Amino acid sequence: MRVALYAESSADEAALGIISEAVLGVAIEPVGHAGLRHRGWPAVRTALRSILLELHYHTDAEGFVFIVDSNGSTPHLPAHNLADAHDPTCRLCELRQIALAVQRQVRPRPHLPPLKIALGTAVPAIEAWLLCGMNHQVSEATWLNGIRQGQIPYSRPDLKNQLYGTTRPSLAVETEVMTQRASHLAANLQNLRAQFPNGFGALHADLMNWK
Ligand SMILES: [Zn+2]
Repeated sequence: MRVALYAESSADEAALGIISEAVLGVAIEPVGHAGLRHRGWPAVRTALRSILLELHYHTDAEGFVFIVDSNGSTPHLPAHNLADAHDPTCRLCELRQIALAVQRQVRPRPHLPPLKIALGTAVPAIEAWLLCGMNHQVSEATWLNGIRQGQIPYSRPDLKNQLYGTTRPSLAVETEVMTQRASHLAANLQNLRAQFPNGFGALHADLMNWK
């Protein structure tokens, strides 16, 4: 399946591709795109519209998978999924609004169905997903409880340290470890959904709708 992937680094994208293939049950043939040269929020928010238009009109991509790290922003919650209940301080909700506006605006593609879109958010970063099965304390529930009590339970450097043994891994190390962990998770998606029901759950639900 021809799919464009977007995450905050090429290592993140490699992991995202493996996990998406596992959910879809088909091999992904990645489609390149020029629309998002700048990584990180809010640059990706601003650029999402142009990449969707590029993919829709100028590529043969059938789908687009996009994840963003929540970092310190409002985590996505099930209540946001209710009609007109999107939270403008939640990154996933913002991305959904942008994608919806583009989908409503584009002309049909002559030889292809509309671009399928799957959006997710990792709380607080994709390293948390990849630690699933290694550290049971890393989960959306732990994160939300921490926020309620006024203290974040772990930082992104903490997660990197656990995953790579260093807070500053090279891109090669990052890619190797992320690919390994993603392959492990691909065989255990239920666990990932249980630990990250909102941010990964959203991505999973979108991908299941593609079938
Ligand atoms: Zn939300």
